[in-house]
Amino acid sequence: MTDEPLIVVDRDECEANAVCEGILPEVFQVDENDELHILNEHPPAELLDRVQEAVDMCPKRALLLKRAGQ
Ligand code: SF4
Repeated sequence: MTDEPLIVVDRDECEANAVCEGILPEVFQVDENDELHILNEHPPAELLDRVQEAVDMCPKRALLLKRAGQ
């Protein structure tokens, strides 16, 4: 168990449109094979607002940010 925030991707839903990368390229990166990479699954506190923005903006609802206690 960890209290660190965790980014979870539903890879069945992700269509690699890179909306999340546009919001936060430090964390989300879509490669040339249309595969999404999470560069830091446990984002630091200062990035959490933008992670949440990416989660909210994903048109496929493929992202989830788990925070402590969730
Ligand atoms: S915004 Fe959503 S669908 Fe698009 S690449 Fe990111 S996780 Fe995948």
